[in-house]
Amino acid sequence: MKRAAFARINLAHLNHNLATIRKVANQSKIMAVVKANAYGHGMLEVCQSLDGADAFAVAYVNEAMELRENGIRKPIVALQGFSDSEDLQNAIAQNIDVVIHHEEQLKILKTLSTTAKLDVLIKIDTGMHRLGFAVEEFQNVLKQLQSLLHESSKIKLMTHLACADEINNFATTQQLEQFDLVVKNNTFEQTIANSAAILAWPGSHRDWVRPGLTLYGVNPIEPTYRTDPVDLRAVMSLHAPLISIKNCKKGEKIGYGGDFSCPEDMLIGIIAVGYADGYPRHLCNRPNVLIGAQLAPIVGRVSMDMIAIDLTGVETHIGAIAELWGESVSVEEVAKHAETISYELLCAAGNAVEKKYIL
Ligand SMILES: *Cc1c(COP(=O)(O)O)cnc(C)c1O
Repeated sequence: MKRAAFARINLAHLNHNLATIRKVANQSKIMAVVKANAYGHGMLEVCQSLDGADAFAVAYVNEAMELRENGIRKPIVALQGFSDSEDLQNAIAQNIDVVIHHEEQLKILKTLSTTAKLDVLIKIDTGMHRLGFAVEEFQNVLKQLQSLLHESSKIKLMTHLACADEINNFATTQQLEQFDLVVKNNTFEQTIANSAAILAWPGSHRDWVRPGLTLYGVNPIEPTYRTDPVDLRAVMSLHAPLISIKNCKKGEKIGYGGDFSCPEDMLIGIIAVGYADGYPRHLCNRPNVLIGAQLAPIVGRVSMDMIAIDLTGVETHIGAIAELWGESVSVEEVAKHAETISYELLCAAGNAVEKKYIL
């Protein structure tokens, strides 16, 4: 079913952002994170466009399989690794690198009749307490893996940071110290940094960086903490048409619940976008929508597939295409108003509406 709202995905901006990341982490290889359908931007289209990436990372082996089936030949990492023996067989057959983060995965590996030719990343929990082996378990896990894997298998070491977006947070210093303590005396390649760490913690860059959000043009560092400007460009913009314009009198109420009462005579426009398109309902009475070349504020509640905007003094016409976020209204700003993060908005909208790709 086709919706009126649509997303434009600018692939030139995507590649521009990759080049920016390359400049910032200029000693590292880049594992472009394309999980969750490339944060709503379309996993396959993003991978096909990102020639310059050294590898891709997804959450599940299934996603990696889809990329292989569609001709993606670069290394692909499954960040949650395999969860059963079928997953494992697929990873081996399709040359998919897997993260090993739990004892259960070693048990599955042991059920194979021969040693597996499988490239793995051992995930160490240095303080986030989500996935990964405890620091004390590492040596033992490494020994077991080396006996279960074919000698040509490559091993990398990884961890994930919980607070990298906070410039001065000592938790990150501690996580880096823990990691270095665990991996010292090993020559395996290392990977730590997500987008925030790429920008804020150069000591975390190591052999491979793992950018997600920055690739899509969003800076995860709080504006007040930003030291250098980073040249990132919005890849997704969300659009929808203006489908009604009407005059409302002072005191008339607009939308569900009559939350908004016109303080004076107003011109009200209705845009065909709503929470069914991933435009958050939290935005009632808040941010600005770009229409023509002007910004118009939302008035009243966000409905399932409509919003009302104040068009008083705005030059426009029915059928004009509004921008809900993109280059003029940043998705970060919209996310802030909606009390969420841009990751959630990009995933929700990108997976709800049609995507139009721009080269
Ligand atoms: C999602 C994810 C990333 C990318 O995070 P961003 O903040 O989007 O850059 C990196 N590493 C792991 C393990 C992830 O799950």
